[in-house]
Amino acid sequence: MPELPEVESLVAFLRQQAVGRTVSRVDVAAINALSTYDPPLSALHGQTVEAADRHGKFLDLSIGPEPLHLVIHLARAGWLHWRDPLSAVPPKMGRGPIALRVHLTGEPDRPVGFDLTEAGTQKKLSVALVLSPDQVPGVARLGIDPLDQEFTPERLGAILADAGGRQLKGVLRDQATIAGIGNAYSDEALHAAKMSPFRGASKLEPTEVVALHAAIVGTLRDALDRASGLAAGDLKGEKKSNLRVHGRAGATCPVCGDTVREVSFADSSLQYCPTCQTGGKPLADRRLSRLLK
Ligand SMILES: [Zn+2]
Repeated sequence: MPELPEVESLVAFLRQQAVGRTVSRVDVAAINALSTYDPPLSALHGQTVEAADRHGKFLDLSIGPEPLHLVIHLARAGWLHWRDPLSAVPPKMGRGPIALRVHLTGEPDRPVGFDLTEAGTQKKLSVALVLSPDQVPGVARLGIDPLDQEFTPERLGAILADAGGRQLKGVLRDQATIAGIGNAYSDEALHAAKMSPFRGASKLEPTEVVALHAAIVGTLRDALDRASGLAAGDLKGEKKSNLRVHGRAGATCPVCGDTVREVSFADSSLQYCPTCQTGGKPLADRRLSRLLK
């Protein structure tokens, strides 16, 4: 799933490539991907893309003089593919990975634009056309952005103190608490902070809060630095090749040489290094232990 660094990089890419161009047409191929119907997508036709922004993991294109906002959530398997040239043929309705195709004006003989695609059978990618981004419920409930100057160690401390009995992993991934961190960068930040994902969030010492804050911001900034300047098509591979523990069960921890381990849940999994994060003790794999009972 694209998280804060990837969405931020897509936004930077769209600022260069899409802002200033005019929308000539929008084709919807997956009707379920569209969560709004008023205003209609045809309201974008002939309007200029004025700005590209990010809210958590949401991408926001401002289009037109009193801008309408095309707000895109790529979900787990969605992606934005820049096309130059872009096929003028509308994508096939309800078939194939393309959910939406946005045609922009390019050179007279070479239209450009982008496709929003979603792999797999679970269709979660969602697009809304609204007057204000806050009209999208997922945007309205977002917590603080970890790259915001107001995201200080004190602020993180307050967030963790309010977390009750919740575990660090769940708090970091909760978009209503901290916006933009998902399964991958929560694994990475906890590995960098040398903390167990199951640690009680409200149990951290003040020095640990400072360390976790530095790990969160450092992990995201490093990922952003690596991604900056890359074209949309190169971002996914970049992310994968630089993760230290996430998605790397069975591989060697680059910090200590231990084997990266995994805990599986019904529809996701987390990865961690026992030596770095849990005093060498493997965490119980809940799915496995339930099967063994
Ligand atoms: Zn390690």
